[in-house]
Formats: sequence, structure tokens, C-alpha cells
Amino acid sequence: MTLKQLTNMEECVYFTNRTIGNGKIKAWVIKELCPKCNKALMSKPRDPKTGKPKIRAIEYACPECHYQIEKEEYEDSLTINVQYTCPFCAFQGEIQVPFKRRKIQRINEETRKKETVDVIRFKCQKCNRDIDITKKMK
Ligand SMILES: [Zn+2]
Ligand SMILES: [Zn+2]
Repeated sequence: MTLKQLTNMEECVYFTNRTIGNGKIKAWVIKELCPKCNKALMSKPRDPKTGKPKIRAIEYACPECHYQIEKEEYEDSLTINVQYTCPFCAFQGEIQVPFKRRKIQRINEETRKKETVDVIRFKCQKCNRDIDITKKMK
């Protein structure tokens, strides 16, 4: 399997480079073509005055045919490319999984309180244990 390489930050929906325990994860998600016309990458709509993408927009739009899709629905349809060193068995692998966030409950290490976090979960191709990429908390 070959990962889709990231060539341009403009095409990037999500990027992370972090250590988890004894492991490491580098992961990225690349925009895909409009599902309607297949001509252009779906992007955040641009502000007509400034021409800059509206980062907080809750939808993506096709610059060619103006098809719009809700942000979460679009992002769920994408694929995340992951390069990892497994925190459990130190295996180094590459994997592609759906960029679908799932909610898990865990204990926050600092506050000791239960919290719900969004993660992308995949299995190590060698030891088969779950590895979670936590969506960064603010
Ligand atoms: Zn289109
Ligand atoms: Zn492993």
C-alpha cells in the first residue's frame, strides 16, 4: 500500500505529527475531488470580499460547480494517511483508514475526570492493538 503523499499544505485538511508513549504518529488527510463534477478539490468557501477561505465555514464547496457538502459529512468520506511506530510493539508501518472520528471515553491524565474525546482509531498491523489518534484538545 502506498500512502498519498502530501505535496501542498493547501490540499491538506488535517495534519499531525506527534509521539504517543513510545510510539510516533505522522498523519495527514488530503482533500478529494468534488463528488459531483470531479473537476476540482472541495474547499472551504472563500469570502467574496477578501478572497480568503472561510476557515470556520461548516461546509465545503466546489469552486467549479458550486456543489456544497456539510463539513462533517465530507470529512467522514476522506481517508487519513498514517505513518506510525507502534507504541506497544515498536512496529513501523503505514496504513490508510477512513477519516471517521469516533467518540471514546477516557480518563484525563491531569484532571482524573472522565472525558469524551474524538479519535481516529486503527489497528497496528503487527500486534493488532488499537492505536488512537486523538483530536487535539484546545
Ligand atoms: Zn463540482
Ligand atoms: Zn504493534
